[in-house]
Amino acid sequence: MTDVLIVGAGPTGLTLGCDLTRRGIACRIVEQTAEPAPGSRGFTLKPRSLEALDDLGVAGRILAAGDTGGRLRFHLGPEPLFDLRLPPAPADPSRPYPNAVALPQWRTESILRDRLGELGGKVEYGRRLTGFEAGDEVVTATLEDGERVQARYLVAADGGRSLVRRTLGLPFSGSTTEDMRAVIADLRIDGLDRDSGTHLWVTADGHMLAARPIPHADTWQVVTSLEPGEEGDLGTVRHAFATRTGRTDITASDPDWLSTWRYNLRMVERYRVGRVFLAGDAAHVHSPFGGHGMNTGIQDAYNLGWKLALVLQGTAGAGLLDTYEAERLPVARQILADSDRRMRGTVPPRAIRPVVRLIIKSVMARQQRRTRHDHPVYRTGPLSLHLTGRRGRVRAGDVAPDAPVLLDGRPARLSELLRGPHFTALTFGLAPNLTDPRLRAHTVVRPGQSGLIDTTGHLHRMYGARTGTTVLIRPDGYIGLIASSPDALPGYLALISGT
Ligand SMILES: Cc1cc2nc3c(=O)[nH]c(=O)nc-3n(C[C@H](O)[C@H](O)[C@H](O)COP(=O)(O)OP(=O)(O)OC[C@H]3O[C@@H](n4cnc5c(N)ncnc54)[C@H](O)[C@@H]3O)c2cc1C
Repeated sequence: MTDVLIVGAGPTGLTLGCDLTRRGIACRIVEQTAEPAPGSRGFTLKPRSLEALDDLGVAGRILAAGDTGGRLRFHLGPEPLFDLRLPPAPADPSRPYPNAVALPQWRTESILRDRLGELGGKVEYGRRLTGFEAGDEVVTATLEDGERVQARYLVAADGGRSLVRRTLGLPFSGSTTEDMRAVIADLRIDGLDRDSGTHLWVTADGHMLAARPIPHADTWQVVTSLEPGEEGDLGTVRHAFATRTGRTDITASDPDWLSTWRYNLRMVERYRVGRVFLAGDAAHVHSPFGGHGMNTGIQDAYNLGWKLALVLQGTAGAGLLDTYEAERLPVARQILADSDRRMRGTVPPRAIRPVVRLIIKSVMARQQRRTRHDHPVYRTGPLSLHLTGRRGRVRAGDVAPDAPVLLDGRPARLSELLRGPHFTALTFGLAPNLTDPRLRAHTVVRPGQSGLIDTTGHLHRMYGARTGTTVLIRPDGYIGLIASSPDALPGYLALISGT
């Protein structure tokens, strides 16, 4: 018997596997393919995902493997039209990673797999789930080779075609638009300059071709829209370069991976059926515009991991698991609506230089603003208690802001204290009279006093804090409670124990 059986070793399953394993939860990850999947697919890790991956111990490796420079060369036929450079977001005391990082999905997955191995876990490749029965106490899953695996919980991280979802009979409502297709390929390109970043062509008849260099590799990710009836293969990619760039000096060859993408917009209406949970693409698929696919799956897993762990360890009531759907389903609904709006709004610009330039600039500026606000909030969720009338800039349910602090005389970031599986209490000017094995408490003070020193006053400002103001930060970095006194802490922890 294992505690959690995770089906699928994409970014969602791997994130959950790392989170549960580091918390000492027995879990198995079964993956149908014989080896890790190739393919650059989800290319952007957003700041909130980086915060989660920091907590899992891999943000440094992600930054080293990726690229934060936003460069774009826009072409009209054979002529480069203009270059755009998206400046890095300014340093933000509230966010440890203000910029998104570009790296191919296969690399993100390989970093997570390595981390899973360091934590003592592994992916079981070549082990396909073929069916399962969910009882009141246990889920019994059957693998293709006949093994029957018993688990307390099963998590479907098995992607858009999820067998688990279909077995549960959950509708995957939405639409597939067959005439919006594209080929996506990782391959070698000669004749294009890597230093200019992504190269983009949009033709007057509405077709596009984009080529972006894969960081620290000699390959490119190419995305090109398909004509009706056209197949997604290397010939199509070459044809697109020939017809959409008007250039003869660009050659595409040696594909490592190639896939046809269709515009899909679908989600489930339930994330949980008894002991079975859905996460990532198994629960929602949408357009790549906005770069949400992989990020949403990582956040689903990060929301579910600590809840499963506390319930399995007996330090939280089983009701805590219901808050997974309550918090994550509205996020998927909002992202689906947003990505559909963006997709439909992608009208190809005409050949009017200043207008084209203006459009692209404003799209990029908007993208940068959105990147800074990439995290959903759970303000109306069941785990958010805002019990103070004082007005700060954040409320219960928001991501806890980071801040520069002095810890035992050493300059540090608050986010360093949040790393790990615990809850974190911040009490301003007072020490809480409370011990709880799930909790680490810090007394936040102004410079010159003893405690966790709020060097710039950022924490005081963000929380509108006075003496006694108390904040409880959940294991996934969201604010669970803001109150005017530490006396509210036991009640919140009892809520977790009893939910
Ligand atoms: C062609 C393509 C291009 C994309 N481009 C982008 C992009 O540009 N930006 C972006 O953000 N997102 C993109 N996405 C989406 C992104 O890749 C997904 O959102 C992300 O992979 C979801 O992660 P996941 O772990 O939930 O599911 P997946 O990555 O799909 O992983 C599911 C895993 O489960 C395994 N599995 C399935 N069934 C079983 C079974 N019965 N037993 C055992 N294992 C099973 C699969 O083999 C797979 O490894 C793209 C996706 C595709 C297919």
